[in-house]
Amino acid sequence: MNSIVLFKNNLRINDNPALFHASKSKNKILPVYIYDDIHVKKQLGSASRYWLHNALISLNKSLNFNLSFYRGDTIDVLMKIIKKYEISDIYCEQPFLKNDIILFDQLKLKLSMFNVKFNIYNCTLLWDPQYILKKDNTPYKVFTPYYKKGCLEKIKPDMPLGMPCKFNFVKKNNDSKIDDLKLLDKFRWYDKMDNQWNISENSAEKILDLFLESSIYNYKKGRDFPALNDTSKLSPYIRFGMISLNKIWYALDRLNFDRNIAHYKSELGWREFSYYLLYYFSFMETQNLQTKFDNFNWENSSEKFDAWKKGETGYPIVDAAMKELWETGYMHNRMRMVTASFLVKNLLVDWRLGESWFWDCLLDADYASNIAGWQWTAGTGADAAPYFRIFNPILQGEKFDHEGKYTLKYIPQLKDVPLKYLQKPWEYSSNLDYVNRIVDLKDSRDNALYHYSLIK
Ligand SMILES: Cc1cc2nc3c(=O)[nH]c(=O)nc-3n(C[C@H](O)[C@H](O)[C@H](O)COP(=O)(O)OP(=O)(O)OC[C@H]3O[C@@H](n4cnc5c(N)ncnc54)[C@H](O)[C@@H]3O)c2cc1C
Repeated sequence: MNSIVLFKNNLRINDNPALFHASKSKNKILPVYIYDDIHVKKQLGSASRYWLHNALISLNKSLNFNLSFYRGDTIDVLMKIIKKYEISDIYCEQPFLKNDIILFDQLKLKLSMFNVKFNIYNCTLLWDPQYILKKDNTPYKVFTPYYKKGCLEKIKPDMPLGMPCKFNFVKKNNDSKIDDLKLLDKFRWYDKMDNQWNISENSAEKILDLFLESSIYNYKKGRDFPALNDTSKLSPYIRFGMISLNKIWYALDRLNFDRNIAHYKSELGWREFSYYLLYYFSFMETQNLQTKFDNFNWENSSEKFDAWKKGETGYPIVDAAMKELWETGYMHNRMRMVTASFLVKNLLVDWRLGESWFWDCLLDADYASNIAGWQWTAGTGADAAPYFRIFNPILQGEKFDHEGKYTLKYIPQLKDVPLKYLQKPWEYSSNLDYVNRIVDLKDSRDNALYHYSLIK
């Protein structure tokens, strides 16, 4: 008999519990990837599809070109493969998002009718949300007690399993090709990404090693400065499971303990918290977690939203960040907070519109972290920045890009503006080759607070 190893969001061979356990059994294995655009709430964005395409090429190589690609309904596709290859077992990652949980429940039922065993393993999170509850058996809504009391004090993440000793593949008799998945857009916008990102499991491990050798020791402070290279930039690799969280966690444990390492771990904790929130409060995928915001009167001006998307708001730090996103498929964390706050609070555009733009453009677009990040910044989420705390983009730029390197990298036309005026160039000259501000900071702030007062 044979086993299918079904890859979904964990596209790696090192410390992949599903692959590891399948490889240990007597069965031969058939690695399968199904691009299922039917059982999804939201189609993958262009940037994610580009990353996925390349991650699958890398995974196929690691599996000695034994990965089979299919497109369609997961259950239908699996039923066909099961008949063709005498399958007795399926190995896969445990789902944590609502849609996947529903799909897997249906699949499990179907497989039981065909006597196929469904083996699932947690390949995605350090802590399985179902085991993390408060004393009264209700879920946490505040990060610090969730992370410290619920996770750190109670459960040690699993040790990484390492690489399977050997693979014994089923001889497949189909020649499915990655191109059949049609992941790439016809317009080759992504050519510019090819020389910025090396999309392979090996690269993810190298990036981690390099980060742990140097930048980690300045992480707590340096992580706020977008011109520095003090964050790991592992997010797209983590999003597509090209590196295991358990491996990262225990690699951090091997370093001498210091506050930077604890801080980096807590950021991984925020990712866990995002999945946790969506696990228990799945309505927040589309609705405000704090329901009082359901009555908020968003203005949703399409002109302002377009200007924000293009990086033409007239606020240099906001515009630089939106251009970073467009040119690199990535945006620094502080800049995500600044641009999101600006859209939601100064432009009064619904966070869901910003979330969908990020979803389309980010290479690391992660269903849980993106929604939780937007709700946090908008003030509508759990343990969120209060709505009335509105980032001032001028001060944010002056504080976190005080030498202007990041701003000028993306808005070079401001290079002759003295640093003192870089974040408020309108005070320097009205004859610059740069867009006018689309809103006044004070007026838009007052307007936001007024709108907020109506729902308080
Ligand atoms: C509005 C908004 C939207 C966001 N959308 C996403 C998204 O779609 N995908 C995504 O991976 N992250 C998202 N984040 C979180 C964070 O900005 C990125 O994870 C981080 O910038 C990635 O860069 P890095 O790998 O260098 O991070 P590092 O600082 O090196 O952190 C290491 C890892 O920890 C995780 N992490 C760090 N900070 C956070 C956080 N605040 N929330 C959740 N996980 C975190 C990521 O997996 C990251 O790769 C969003 C944040 C905001 C405010």
